[in-house]
Amino acid sequence: MQQKQCSTSAAAKGPSAKQRKVAPVKEEKNKRAGGWLEDLLKQNRTENKEMKFNQKRLRLLSDTKQIQRDSEGVLYWMLRDHRVQDNWALVHAQQLALKENLPLHVCVCLVVPKSELSTLRHYSFMLKGLEEVATECKALNIQFHLLHGSAGDILPGFVSDRGLGAVVTDFTPLREPLQWLEDVKKTLPKDIPLIQVDAHNIVPCWVASPKLEYAARTIRGKITKLLPEFLTEFPLVERHAHTATRTAKPVDWDNTLASLQVDRAVGETEWAQPGTKAGMAMLESFIDVRLKLFDTKRNDPNTAALSQLSPWIRFGHLSAQRVATQVQHSGKSAGHSVASFIEELVVRRELTDNFCFYNKKYDSVEGAYEWAQKTLKDHAKDKRAYLYTREQLEKATTHDKLWNGAQYQMVTEGKMHGFLRMYWAKKILEWTTSPEEALSIALYLNDRYELDGQDPNGFVGCMWSICGIHDQGWKEREVFGKIRFMNYKGCLRKFDVAGFERKYCPKNL
Ligand SMILES: Cc1cc2nc3c(=O)[nH]c(=O)nc-3n(C[C@H](O)[C@H](O)[C@H](O)COP(=O)(O)OP(=O)(O)OC[C@H]3O[C@@H](n4cnc5c(N)ncnc54)[C@H](O)[C@@H]3O)c2cc1C
Repeated sequence: MQQKQCSTSAAAKGPSAKQRKVAPVKEEKNKRAGGWLEDLLKQNRTENKEMKFNQKRLRLLSDTKQIQRDSEGVLYWMLRDHRVQDNWALVHAQQLALKENLPLHVCVCLVVPKSELSTLRHYSFMLKGLEEVATECKALNIQFHLLHGSAGDILPGFVSDRGLGAVVTDFTPLREPLQWLEDVKKTLPKDIPLIQVDAHNIVPCWVASPKLEYAARTIRGKITKLLPEFLTEFPLVERHAHTATRTAKPVDWDNTLASLQVDRAVGETEWAQPGTKAGMAMLESFIDVRLKLFDTKRNDPNTAALSQLSPWIRFGHLSAQRVATQVQHSGKSAGHSVASFIEELVVRRELTDNFCFYNKKYDSVEGAYEWAQKTLKDHAKDKRAYLYTREQLEKATTHDKLWNGAQYQMVTEGKMHGFLRMYWAKKILEWTTSPEEALSIALYLNDRYELDGQDPNGFVGCMWSICGIHDQGWKEREVFGKIRFMNYKGCLRKFDVAGFERKYCPKNL
């Protein structure tokens, strides 16, 4: 109840999200005509029609890989990557279906956990993205099914009822969807092949490394070495040649969204429109306008230098592989910015899937390195200069206007600048009673309000800031121990803090 009051009252005060949103394309006149990227990609994909599917992108999860003779179709159970083109899981499902002369189906199992993290912000973005997927599928003679319920409960029955001969799914390292996959594995008939394709990472998670990596420096070389093999073009997902005799039930998208049991106090964002088309427009504006500033200005929250692509990557509306190839191809004039951006998008991002896949305690202090757990324990009883409750933090009512502004922007707009995210999480460690409490509050706020939340990047971001994951020990100090410290003074040296506070921290908070 308190949280709802917080988010609505916060939104009611101060300037609206619309007034303060970062305009994606206005900063400079485009040299290319707007929409160039979509046209270019259509041409690219058609030219790469014969592009081979690399078998290392898949894992066979069933004992059989043989599709039964009398099957009536192949199913792609879309779990994480909600897009049609640039999706290796759908490419593979279509190739399987074509080989067997079968119709192609896509399904999503919609389930809303009873949780403070189930918000309108996230579900609206997701459903509107899926509506676009359904429209594209229709145009390509692919049946799109929106199923209601947990995959373990409903998918095997759906497969049997429709006589489907194989299930392809995509990859996520997070606990809950992994459990859904385990449930499906148990209940799917044994003669149905179940195939998982890593459609999210450029280098499949299990190929990049078979173990938990220590830091960016230990995975960078492994990924870089494999990029020539995996950072390729995509073939086109084509109009499917085989038509299903039983079509999918039409979806009433507005009613579906209206009927979901989600927390509507955390509303939709205005700056980020859902779906692949909108994501492509944001990518285009990044290449045209912001990319050249990325290398030098990416730590300045007052400058629009970042891609802002994380929500579309998080929901799978955009493929990171497409973003990487396009930035490399079209951003040549941006100099060092291309390499700096690829480091974040590829190395740092794929490291987070590695962490969550190989560390079952990815969201707990117990998942930290021994040195970090020890140092946090040694300083657990240190006196804190400020102590705030979760509610005070959520309402952005600390003594620190910079922190409040960042928090307020997150609540109202669903985003926070990458540099401030580190500062923000580290202050939560400093201002709460224990590292455990700090991590739990940081994850709660991040995953409830950030549009890109509930993602491996978020777990690692919070674990890096509070528990030193993928980092090293620093000079020991109060509360933080050897965990890297950040403070307000450091921010003053980096950017115009007062300017940020004026813009983002409402006076009446
Ligand atoms: C406390 C904390 C919480 C975070 N929570 C999330 C989260 O919930 N979801 C999320 O996607 N990212 C999270 N990040 C990582 C990073 O801050 C965001 O990905 C980035 O700010 C998103 O903005 P952008 O798309 O403009 O990024 P850009 O700087 O333009 O980078 C491009 C892409 O690279 C990836 N990326 C960038 N920085 C990182 C990083 N440090 N680690 C891993 N991948 C990265 C993202 O996919 C991003 O969209 C968090 C970081 C911290 C410190």
